[in-house]
Amino acid sequence: MTLDPQSLRIDGVYEQRQPGNFMLRVKVPAGILSSEQALKVAEIADRFAGGAVHLTTRGSIELHWLQPDTLAEAWRMLAAVGLTTRGACGGAVRGVVCAAPDEAGYAIVQALAQRLLHHFTRNPRFEGLPKKFKIGVFAGYGDGRHLIQDLALVLRGGEGEARYDVWTAGGLGREPSPAFLLEEGVAAERIIPLAEAVVAVYRDNTPKGKRLKHLVREVGRDGFERLVRELEEQPRSLGAAIGLAAALTPAPSNVAPERVEAVIFAGELKTVELTALADIARRYADGFMVLTGGQNVLFFLSGRRQRDNAVSALAAAGFDGGSRMQRVNFRVCPGIHECRMGLAPTRDVAAAVIDSMGAGGEHLAWSISGCPNSCSQPQLADVGIVTVKSVKGDDGERHPLFDLYRRSGNDGFGAAVSQGLALEELLRTVQALG
Ligand code: SF4
Repeated sequence: MTLDPQSLRIDGVYEQRQPGNFMLRVKVPAGILSSEQALKVAEIADRFAGGAVHLTTRGSIELHWLQPDTLAEAWRMLAAVGLTTRGACGGAVRGVVCAAPDEAGYAIVQALAQRLLHHFTRNPRFEGLPKKFKIGVFAGYGDGRHLIQDLALVLRGGEGEARYDVWTAGGLGREPSPAFLLEEGVAAERIIPLAEAVVAVYRDNTPKGKRLKHLVREVGRDGFERLVRELEEQPRSLGAAIGLAAALTPAPSNVAPERVEAVIFAGELKTVELTALADIARRYADGFMVLTGGQNVLFFLSGRRQRDNAVSALAAAGFDGGSRMQRVNFRVCPGIHECRMGLAPTRDVAAAVIDSMGAGGEHLAWSISGCPNSCSQPQLADVGIVTVKSVKGDDGERHPLFDLYRRSGNDGFGAAVSQGLALEELLRTVQALG
């Protein structure tokens, strides 16, 4: 079967580095996956995707190694449990990130993240965008991920009606640019109209292949804001009903400290592990698990006994935190292992870095990207590694070179402190960190 890879992107399909093999990206609303959904994903991975899944830094799931004739069946099986891949790649509003599960407002932002995802997914007015459009909803400023979204909504603390700070035009990639504050304290009922206006301004004014940050550079912040206000004030043909703002997991303030996280090295999960996690969710966590921005799996437990049982079950499933790989917070993109853009074997490099780091390194947040696109957000980690190019060595093979970033505090992006490091130099450098 011959497929045109370009035309499939809107349905979440990318051709892999290995021609004829495809990646299917699944949107997981607010990163919250039910036990039944996890079992179905595991079944698909077993049948079609080499027995493993990849958890992304945006709370989505990627299935690799699908063949052209298995894509439709995988897509059907996902639909049977309410999951979609529509708009997970290509020029569309991508999966909506929902983060800061430590914050008290987590249950509130979950509901908004789900509304936004459902509002934009399959909405023909917002498909065929110049490039991807990323939305994130956050319960607090936390690790600064609002800075890298095209549109970020940050819940403001305090009593009364939920209000959000609205940030826009952020992004990493080859030209990192932090988001700027468009408006403070926006009431919940204005969020959908405002989000629509921002996406429509992007759609109507940006050249193909460019992100929103490009448009803002061209027209200036004031010019962009003017365009958004004009559009927001126009009468809307359809209203946005609020509905039941229910959450799938309890608010952390009600359950602390009954939560437990399984650290998944590089976000790579074998189906037997995913099946075990689905069982833990079913038995101890009201049937749900949370896919975090750290590529890990988080469970909220309804009591201390449930938590102890979940910890024992996780240990039995191999997630006992016994090795550094199960302890170190390390975001890793697929890199050369599967991605066409990849310049480095990111998982191998991450494993070597974990091996080399000093004891203090275990307490830092790490990230490696396989190319300057920075999908694993290295500029937001305590220590970020970006593969900048690969060069031909004396052995005739290509070897990657890395830039090393350090970030202190939660404001802005990390800065490059060493550039063009070969692997051995990188490992020597990280040995001295922490
Ligand atoms: S950072 Fe580069 S190599 Fe890694 S997933 Fe993104 S595009 Fe692929």
